[in-house]
Amino acid sequence: MLSPAQRPPAVDKVLAWAEIAALVADHGRPLVLAAVRDELAARRSNGAALDRASLAAALAARLRQLLAPSLRPVLNLSGTVLHTNLGRAVLPAEAIARLQQVARGGCNLEFDLDQGGRGDRDDHVQAWLRRLSGAEAAAVVNNNAAALLLILASLAGGRQRREVIVSRGELVEIGGAFRLPEIMAQAGCRLREVGTTNRTHLADYAEAITPNTALLLKVHTSNYRIEGFTASVAESALAGLCRAHGLPLVVDLGSGALIDLAGLGLPAEPTVAATLASGADLVCFSGDKLLGGPQAGLIVGRAELVARLQKNPLKRALRCDKLSLAALEAVLALYADPERLPQRLPTLRLLTRPLAEIDALARRLQPTLAAWWGDAGRVDVVACDSQIGSGAMPTELLPSAALRLTPAGPARHAGRALAALARRLRALPLPLVGRTAEGALWLDLRCLAAVGDGPAQAADEAAFVALFTQP
Ligand SMILES: *Cc1c(COP(=O)(O)O)cnc(C)c1O
Repeated sequence: MLSPAQRPPAVDKVLAWAEIAALVADHGRPLVLAAVRDELAARRSNGAALDRASLAAALAARLRQLLAPSLRPVLNLSGTVLHTNLGRAVLPAEAIARLQQVARGGCNLEFDLDQGGRGDRDDHVQAWLRRLSGAEAAAVVNNNAAALLLILASLAGGRQRREVIVSRGELVEIGGAFRLPEIMAQAGCRLREVGTTNRTHLADYAEAITPNTALLLKVHTSNYRIEGFTASVAESALAGLCRAHGLPLVVDLGSGALIDLAGLGLPAEPTVAATLASGADLVCFSGDKLLGGPQAGLIVGRAELVARLQKNPLKRALRCDKLSLAALEAVLALYADPERLPQRLPTLRLLTRPLAEIDALARRLQPTLAAWWGDAGRVDVVACDSQIGSGAMPTELLPSAALRLTPAGPARHAGRALAALARRLRALPLPLVGRTAEGALWLDLRCLAAVGDGPAQAADEAAFVALFTQP
């Protein structure tokens, strides 16, 4: 027999306690009720104390944990600027303001304010995309994988299961479940591989064309590079072949730059406009890679082909929502002024950030981190290389500066010490993600506080310092 003091209180009684009633008032009855039941059950099974004070504290803690946001900001100090797992491109203030505006109430997403009739959601970015790429028409979907799926399904899929010719050197896996051969199968078309992994010639494509060919696809191999004895066929040559056979040439540019990045001191990347000018009929690319916008898949090219995509019922399933379109329109508008773009677009601002600025930041922050870590290890300012990320220009590195945290103690314990350190940094109020390499944790400071100038930057630096100085 349990004594009255050991017997768990009834659920109703607990709910009536003043401190629990306050939780109900804040969070609603269902959540608190479930927490009370779970906590009582846990205590019954592990024999923990059942007194009112400890129960009330545990319930408050349970609710805090339950209501803590799952999707939250983190500081990306991994050294990869466009990190897919960390949300890729950081949006500019203009885009954030615009998506807040349309989130608050109704908007003209598919409503033509001139005519008072039905509009098309893609029209909000059509004109910008046409202007920036020189294309006749444009369409927008959820991401670039969706863009490719829609193109293939619309131009080559369906009952006829027509063929799509691709070079073996371009049969890419982009990560996750995105493999070109599988996308082809999903789109209902047949993959016709030509050439070899390292070399494909125009004649390989020409010999593969049959009456059942639907299109030629060129994939910009943005997430790896084949070097050495290689050959691939330029878009202009492929375009000539396509024209001669009345076939469309589709180019998946992956990252897809809208402006010449070499002009900003970054590695050259083919632009969307240049790809169209060299004869591609449709080009697709991501919104949240080098473009620096929200997740989206952008398709530009010949009006007649874009119209076929728009008519496909899949377009409805793959379409973008109003928040993405609002952010995308604002980002595209920034491209109207290429001179100021590197200051205004965070992705370009981060990628072009001067090494001296990152290095000076590292030197300012080193004492704070060293004091925080104490004698658990050493904190040095070291040179490192950032990556662009998201598959863009994988072999090109950007010189940067890092705080390198090397644990003290015997090397055989270093792995465990590093894992513990990384966990501690992830548990900060603003979780911090670095990179483990060469027995140390590296915090590449390229992406810290570079967004916005002057006061905004100082605020971010101060927030970083506060993470390591507040008790
Ligand atoms: C990244 C990439 C994709 C997929 O783009 P998402 O926007 O992530 O869906 C497709 N093709 C290429 C060549 C890519 O680099």
